[in-house]
Formats: sequence, structure tokens, C-alpha cells
Amino acid sequence: MSIVTERQPRVKTKAERVQLDVLPSANPISVDATHHHEHAHHEHVSVPVSGKYKFALLSMMIFPLLGMIIAIALAWQWEMMSWLNLTMLIGGWYLTGLGVTIGFHRLLTHRSFETTDAIRAFWTALGSLSVEGSPLDWCMVHRKHHQFSDHHGDPHSPSLEGKGVWNKIKGFWHSHAGWMFKNNWDRNERTKYVPDLMHDPLLVSIDKNYGWWVFASFIIPLFIGGLVTWSIQGAILGFIWGGLARICLSHHMTWSINSICHIFGKQHYQSSDDSRNNLFFGYFSHGEGWHNNHHAFPTSAKHGLKWYQFDLSWCIIRGLQLFGLAWKVKLPSERQLQAREL
Ligand SMILES: [Zn+2]
Ligand SMILES: [Zn+2]
Repeated sequence: MSIVTERQPRVKTKAERVQLDVLPSANPISVDATHHHEHAHHEHVSVPVSGKYKFALLSMMIFPLLGMIIAIALAWQWEMMSWLNLTMLIGGWYLTGLGVTIGFHRLLTHRSFETTDAIRAFWTALGSLSVEGSPLDWCMVHRKHHQFSDHHGDPHSPSLEGKGVWNKIKGFWHSHAGWMFKNNWDRNERTKYVPDLMHDPLLVSIDKNYGWWVFASFIIPLFIGGLVTWSIQGAILGFIWGGLARICLSHHMTWSINSICHIFGKQHYQSSDDSRNNLFFGYFSHGEGWHNNHHAFPTSAKHGLKWYQFDLSWCIIRGLQLFGLAWKVKLPSERQLQAREL
């Protein structure tokens, strides 16, 4: 069935050769960057994401957004926002966000460190509560992003829509959230992109129960709000602030890494794509905004490579390492850093 066009692989650049040094051999994203074009046509034969699945994705995008609007209106008009609500919004976002950045991203997708089963389960479960897709789907799409990275075949590049202001806006929307509804990714690609994760029983069981994690993500703040204030109104506000609005905030902070951090910011390292280091998202999105560093050194557990680039996720991984709870922590060598410095 596969329609793969044979093309001559282009000659590897020095930068790509360096990149291969820091990628793990067992990881599918270590596929040589020269395969960009050979795989580029694979998407045309992929099975489209089903209508039902797209509807679920759309609901998970629209309802949290509506919740955020309602939450702001309640606070603005009726001052219905307590310290508890604010704590659930910010605290919930930070915790589940770390599940995505430390768990889904650095631990599972890039295998930038190893840890105990309990800690792996902890971060993966927290990441699942962010309602950004099941762990295996998230890692599958993200490995595909790294394999093609702003070239044809990247599921969410902002750079492929062409020139002109209108195409730039279209590209932004596509990279931010529009890509989810297009047929440039497919759940059947799991066998290609995350075979290692599919053989991890712990991850598979969390992944299979993803629906329950989504349910828990709404129910936990509802119960906290209700029990702390011992009122129905407190439960509803907990649901709105700690559930819907918190998920909305997590979504857009994560999606901005795919959109804004491939458009706005500085490039400090050679990475053969449009990834950028964005100060705001570096500081406020758990260290993930140092996205150019990350594309240059994908398996590095540390994204904030310059002294001023604060990286919360790295601080926690380093803490785990100091307590003997994380090992095989990958970092680029001084030689690799210098080779890619711009
Ligand atoms: Zn990227
Ligand atoms: Zn990545």
C-alpha cells in the first residue's frame, strides 16, 4: 500500500552529524535527518483521524476555552474568585504541565533520563491530567515533529503555508491547534514512532485508561472546591477554575511551544529548522520555551543551556538525580555545544 517515492538522500551537514551523536540509537527520532524526503510522502497513505475522534478533540478544545471565558466573567463581574480558585488554576497548571514537560516530553519522547517505575508512572499520570492527549499519542506526534521539523511531513509546523501575511496567520493557527484536525498524523503511526513505549506495560495501562484520567482531571478540582468550602457553589467554581480554565491555560501554554516558539525568539544553536528560544515561554512554560536549544540537542534533559535560561523542569530532574532517583541523564558535551553555537 505504501507509496514511497525514492529520492537520493542529501549530503549530511556538519550540524546533522553532531545531532546524531546526541540521539539515542533505540529512539525512532534518531532516524537520520537525511530521510526527511523519503518519508515525506508517507502521510498521503495514512489513515485519517476519524470524525468521532476529531469531535472529541474539538470538545476538549472548546469547553475549556468557554470555561476560561466564564471564569474571567465571574471574577470580573461578581468577584467570584477566591485564593483557592487561583491556587487550583495556577498550581494545577504547574503540576500537570510538569507531567507533560518532564514526563511526556523529556522522559518518554526523548528518553533524556531514566528513573524508577513509580516516578515514571507519577509524571505520566500528571501529564495525562493535562488533557493534551493520551501519553502514547502525544509522544508519537512529537517524535514525528522532530523527525521532519519544519519540513514537509511535520504535523505542526507554522512554516509550510507559504509567504505573505495571510499564509503566516494560517501557519500560526495550523501549528497552534489546527493541525489536530488535519490528516497529517494518524494514531496507527504508533507502531512506527513509539514501538518502545508500546512495550512498556506501565505506560500502556495509563494510556488505555486515558478517558478516566480526563474524567479525574475535571472531578478532582470539583471535589476540592466543594470539600474545602463545603458548598455547591464552591464545587462548581472548583470545576470551572481548577478544571476547565486550568486545562485551557495548559493547552495554550503547551501549544505556544509549537506555534510561537517556531516563529518568535532567538536562535542560539544550529538546528536545521525554525525553532526559537523564547524568553517568556522559557520562564513561564516550565523551561520548554528554550525550544531552539531543544531542537539542536533533542535528547538533552536540560533545555536552558545558557546561564540565564531558567529551566524549571531541568531543576526538578537535577534534583531527582541528586537523590539517586534519576540516572543516565543526558546532556550535550562542551564540544557538541560549541559545534552548533551560532
Ligand atoms: Zn518544535
Ligand atoms: Zn521534543
